[in-house]
Amino acid sequence: MASPDQPDRAAWLQGPSAQCNPRPQKQDNPWRLILLGPPGVGKGTQAELLHQQLHACHLSTGDVFRAAGGRHECDLSPAIKAALEYMRRGDLVPDSIVWEMILERSGCLRCGGGFLLDGFPRTLKQAESLRHQLENQGITLHAVVNYELPINGIVQRLGGRRTCKKCKAVFHVTERPPKIAHLCDRCEGALYQRDDDRPESIKVRLVAYEEKTAPLIEFYRELGLLLSISAAGRPEEICARTVAALEARKTKSAFGGARSG
Ligand code: AMP
Repeated sequence: MASPDQPDRAAWLQGPSAQCNPRPQKQDNPWRLILLGPPGVGKGTQAELLHQQLHACHLSTGDVFRAAGGRHECDLSPAIKAALEYMRRGDLVPDSIVWEMILERSGCLRCGGGFLLDGFPRTLKQAESLRHQLENQGITLHAVVNYELPINGIVQRLGGRRTCKKCKAVFHVTERPPKIAHLCDRCEGALYQRDDDRPESIKVRLVAYEEKTAPLIEFYRELGLLLSISAAGRPEEICARTVAALEARKTKSAFGGARSG
């Protein structure tokens, strides 16, 4: 579980007029990673565990939409209202709305603490836009971690997932239960089942993943950034596997850079 002094990611969740508390600590060589993989594979859980080891912030686009969904109707722009409708159905939000949201938060991409992008990019168009944006700003992406899991494991994980209303921490009824039933270990917020974790939305999300997001695997493989990791096992085991692969990759590139996939 994330440490209590983890930044609250206010600048990401609420937008650039908010300030993170505490401010993310500047790292010498901050990790900048994308976490890829089908919905339910455990990217959010991994992002929290990876944060504890790598200190980069967990930046989830889904969390931004959910945070907006918790606000009063009249505080929402028409674009965000439309986005929430797509999300409830399990469909992808249109690229233009997602990109506008990312541009507003581009300060988080430049943050000296680094980032763990989760749920973005999700289409080739988003990946191209992100690539140009990072290049223009001289920001280096270290790797794209692609979590892999057979389909029945994914459906089981999604159905049992519970999310904290307040801090967005992710639990699972059997694999990662909270210490006190229905309450978040970190902030004691209420745990709930996301609308889009219901069976009818899960199906739509998996189809959207296959059609729109899976092609990113080849995109990042060709750029030499892909690092495929098995998402089987306990969250801590998967995290250890990820960190070991990232360290091995760092060592390899320091000695002349072999490409992974
Ligand atoms: P997630 O929490 O990443 O599973 O995202 C939840 C929902 O938010 C998705 O099913 C989409 O409706 C929407 N969403 C989040 N990120 C994106 C994105 N990068 N592109 C399009 N839709 C997104």
